[in-house]
Amino acid sequence: MERSLRIGVVGAGLGGTTAAGLLQRAGFNVVLYDQMPAFSRLGAGIQLGPNVMKIMRRLGIEESMAAVANEPQYWCSRNATDGAYLSRIPLNADRARYQAPYITIHRGEAHQIMLGAVDTANVQFGKCLADLHAHDKGVRLSFMDGTSDEVDILIGADGLNSCVRAKLLGPEDPLFTGWIGHRGMIKASKLAGLDVGECVKWWSSDRHMMTYFLDRKKEEFYFVTGEPAESWPLGVSWVPSTHAEMHKSFAGYDPLVRAYIDAAENITKWPLYTRKPLPVWHRGHVVLLGDACHPMKPHMAQGAAMAIEDAAMLVRCMTEIETNDPNTCFEAYRHHRMGRASRVQEVSNANTWLRTNEDPSWVYGYDVYGVDLHA
Ligand code: FAD
Repeated sequence: MERSLRIGVVGAGLGGTTAAGLLQRAGFNVVLYDQMPAFSRLGAGIQLGPNVMKIMRRLGIEESMAAVANEPQYWCSRNATDGAYLSRIPLNADRARYQAPYITIHRGEAHQIMLGAVDTANVQFGKCLADLHAHDKGVRLSFMDGTSDEVDILIGADGLNSCVRAKLLGPEDPLFTGWIGHRGMIKASKLAGLDVGECVKWWSSDRHMMTYFLDRKKEEFYFVTGEPAESWPLGVSWVPSTHAEMHKSFAGYDPLVRAYIDAAENITKWPLYTRKPLPVWHRGHVVLLGDACHPMKPHMAQGAAMAIEDAAMLVRCMTEIETNDPNTCFEAYRHHRMGRASRVQEVSNANTWLRTNEDPSWVYGYDVYGVDLHA
């Protein structure tokens, strides 16, 4: 596609930021809009596998991210009640196989480094998309602050409650999965003397707790859980929670898990949502990626990874396929992404990933830059 095109990306989350950074590097005129008044450092952790780090390499930030992150050698699954090991799967212990690191990192830190790969002149905060009008030549955007803009191509990377998606396909509430997740941060000094694994998921029959370090110095530890819940109030994105509520939910778990709960600060509780598979990923000059397109339960730690892979594949299709027809580019993008994103969505929703020893190379060994676009 012509590099002179003006590309609008709505949503400066992990997927939208990746798309903007890669488009900028490819020479497009790109604008990244987000509803937030300024960058906000979400206090949570995130795992980014080699499949993502190969894309961070293209953004020129693989090393700066790895320099602050932890690089766990193994993923371990443990039985909640007696601590028995259910699996022990090499991550960085098998680095040569994946040709990139597996990192666990503070999500805000990762996001900030990624935003640093986008020219600040191309980023507009405080721009909440309210409406769009797609026409033959491009898309007119209207924002809540009363301003408007005109772009040739619009990328909807605006997450679970995507406005772009709603304008493209009609409004539809996301589906509450019947699961919630607790998140908690722990100063690692509070766990001194305990046998804390680097990247461990604790499992019982109907819930789990994932634990890992957030930094290379191993000063911050983190947990995120998955637990059944009957309902969640519509429109509430998270609520504060308590040690008592978590102890009740994880009664009977190993003393180590109970020590994590005791040591946690700022415990929060989040709903887990999904959506039915989308019939279309693009229309005219508008295309979707990430959670706007295929949200999933986070039990495989690959939701952001799929958004980032989508962004990389979309930019490949826009730069490597010789056409100026958006439909040709976007259809190639959908063709190369739908199978993989759907498979990951399915496994993630089933919550079986790495519970027992299995080969994770179809996920971590994937290189979006190795895909033959003409296949
Ligand atoms: P988002 O990150 O949701 O970004 C959307 C952006 O759009 C936001 O910045 C928002 O402000 C903006 N926006 C929304 N509406 C508008 C509008 N109208 N106008 C302008 N801007 C707008 N994934 C992993 O890969 N690894 C993990 O370890 C992991 N752990 C997780 C743990 C939990 C508890 C949860 C809930 C999810 C986890 N995920 C993980 C999944 C991951 O968070 C999401 O899949 C990922 O954030 C999706 O990225 P995105 O860029 O598509 O959307």
